[in-house]
Amino acid sequence: MPTEDTIAAISTPIGHSGIGIVRLSGRDAIKIADKVFLSPKKKKLGQTPSHRILYGHIVNPANKEIVDEALVSIMKAPNTYTKENVVEINCHGGSVPIRRTLELVLNAGARHAAPGEFTQRAFLNGRIDLAQAEAVLDLINALTEQSHKAAIKILRGGLSKHIESLREKLIELTAHVEAFIDFPEEDIESISQRNLEKKASKIQQNLKQLIETSRYGIILREGLKTVIIGRPNVGKSSLLNALLEQDRVIVTEMPGTTRDVIEEYLNIRGLPIKIMDTAGIRKARDIAEREGVERSLRAMKEADIVLLIIDGSENLHDTDKELIKKSSPGNTILVINKTDIPSGISLNDLPSDNPAIRISALKGRGLNELKDEIIKTSLCDTYAGQAETGAGLVTNIRHVRALEKTFASICSFINGLNKGLSPEFLSVELRDALDALGEILGITTSEEILNRIFSDFCIGK
Ligand code: GDP
Repeated sequence: MPTEDTIAAISTPIGHSGIGIVRLSGRDAIKIADKVFLSPKKKKLGQTPSHRILYGHIVNPANKEIVDEALVSIMKAPNTYTKENVVEINCHGGSVPIRRTLELVLNAGARHAAPGEFTQRAFLNGRIDLAQAEAVLDLINALTEQSHKAAIKILRGGLSKHIESLREKLIELTAHVEAFIDFPEEDIESISQRNLEKKASKIQQNLKQLIETSRYGIILREGLKTVIIGRPNVGKSSLLNALLEQDRVIVTEMPGTTRDVIEEYLNIRGLPIKIMDTAGIRKARDIAEREGVERSLRAMKEADIVLLIIDGSENLHDTDKELIKKSSPGNTILVINKTDIPSGISLNDLPSDNPAIRISALKGRGLNELKDEIIKTSLCDTYAGQAETGAGLVTNIRHVRALEKTFASICSFINGLNKGLSPEFLSVELRDALDALGEILGITTSEEILNRIFSDFCIGK
């Protein structure tokens, strides 16, 4: 990895703002910044102690034109974000001064940074591991205060410490097993076998808990997938709008992503709720009722939580009955809407095993009860408690997959041990487990995956 060169990028969003920051990192960051910086007292950045700020002007060295007035921070390696020399030029936030400042530092010898390259350097230079680097992005994209809390914990090494300790236990286990390979005439005796199995089971239990609580972690990172379904005119759009009005989370689209499903995010009691609005569902009244029902049924399969809306002012229709029948009681909340007008529904028609909440989307009534029910049905409070007392929270699906692979290898190891398989075979399983676990921290992660992870970042981070 070439960390010899110096990179530069605009680290703040382009637009009109008080300040905008051009960031440089690399061996020559300070030297390059000095070429475009002029302090009124002729101070040089290179002669300024680390972690200081100088006032001055950004100047085009070719013709001495003043481009902007700026404050420049100097941070010398190794106590910096990337562990390299870092300079941050605080310009005015308009797009012209900041772009021109970037242009000048590029002309003076810096290379334009790739997306996430600053964070990638922090990882490559060993300041943070891969899980922590990913948490930087999660922190930036955090949907709610609970998502933010989880990201901070991971960034501060909470998860890494735990994965590291699991790796150490695995390494110890591998060393034991491989000792038997070195002495081929000796079998793994039953006493050692029991000991090995006990140790492996502990690791297995630990992995299992991490995988189980990850369901909650993934929700914190990506949102609780929720769909609003029901036949036309029962009030689906009205409910969505009422909820959005109170709790909408503004989400900036990641560049380059296109979605065929409209997603809106709500912040309900700190939990991010991703309302998946398949274009068809919202427009259900414009299409044949049958088509709408089919789309509802498909959407239900994808969802963590289903809000099945019923018009309380009318008797149950056959379509309502069909949707109720096809929904699963474990994750469906029946929402009886239009309770502000006389009821037409017979409560005896409703199944007793689904929670039912009475609302008026039009008047905004019953929405708090609905939100409480969403939290309750999602079981997030239970998972949060488990995660709090347990080993930490896994929020990233990539980590879950790695944990699952590790878990599968440990299971094979225990099976092999019980069947009396050779230490060679057993050691392969343990090595696989170690590799899989190492992927979380970036120890055994392929370059292709690393590049993919960092390409999700914005330029300048
Ligand atoms: P959708 O087709 O399921 O999305 O239904 P809409 O949200 O478009 O609502 C259909 C009609 O029902 C509209 O005229 C709404 O104003 C009305 N409506 C929705 N919610 C309520 C409610 O709580 N009370 C009353 N009285 N009317 C409602």
